[in-house]
Amino acid sequence: MTVPAPDLQIAGLTPLSTCDWPGKLVATVFLQGCPLACTYCHNPGLRDPLAPGAIGWHEVRDLLARRRGLLDGVVFSGGEPTRQRGLAAAMREVRAAGFGVGLHTAGFYPHRFAAVLPLCDWVGLDIKAPEHLYEAVTGRPAGAAKAFECLQVALASRVDLQVRTTVDPTVMRPHDVARLTDALHARGVREHVLQEVRTQGTTPQFAARLEAFRDRAAGLASLA
Ligand code: SF4
Repeated sequence: MTVPAPDLQIAGLTPLSTCDWPGKLVATVFLQGCPLACTYCHNPGLRDPLAPGAIGWHEVRDLLARRRGLLDGVVFSGGEPTRQRGLAAAMREVRAAGFGVGLHTAGFYPHRFAAVLPLCDWVGLDIKAPEHLYEAVTGRPAGAAKAFECLQVALASRVDLQVRTTVDPTVMRPHDVARLTDALHARGVREHVLQEVRTQGTTPQFAARLEAFRDRAAGLASLA
């Protein structure tokens, strides 16, 4: 009997990634739609929640059938994957096929996150900024409370967790980053990875702002 495909809008599929789940060889499934509007979003095409998927679930199934014994797992990324209601069914199917399950999330849906967490072997949770700068980075109010609620849920579950922050220097100064790192460690986070913001894929406005900021910083450094 054919198992019905989970209801997912899939924007892209990377058949092999060595970096989406540290230490694992994975396929990465990018789910369409994201409620945030991060300053540095490098894939704005993934944000529209109404855009249809470009890849069918059968393509993921076929890939896993061909890569059995070669891949360690599948990472669900986005966009914001917990936005889609078919995520749990997809994760169950991946597990049943013998693969590990990883999740990239920005933690905007705490209840949905809690519901899929038992199906995850590893989670990369984006905590975008210290609370007072959250809206400036994500463009949305209330994001901080939701993300920190997801963090508490993840910590309580003891899932293998990596917390990540992409540092937008046009919004966050070094003391803001230090404040965030301290706050995360105080909550019990053991692995907090800082990522440098990139201009590839971002809007021209953000790329120009970042370039101007870096030029100013370089000018100041040359005076020191
Ligand atoms: S959470 Fe990711 S996909 Fe969503 S806006 Fe931010 S960077 Fe873009």
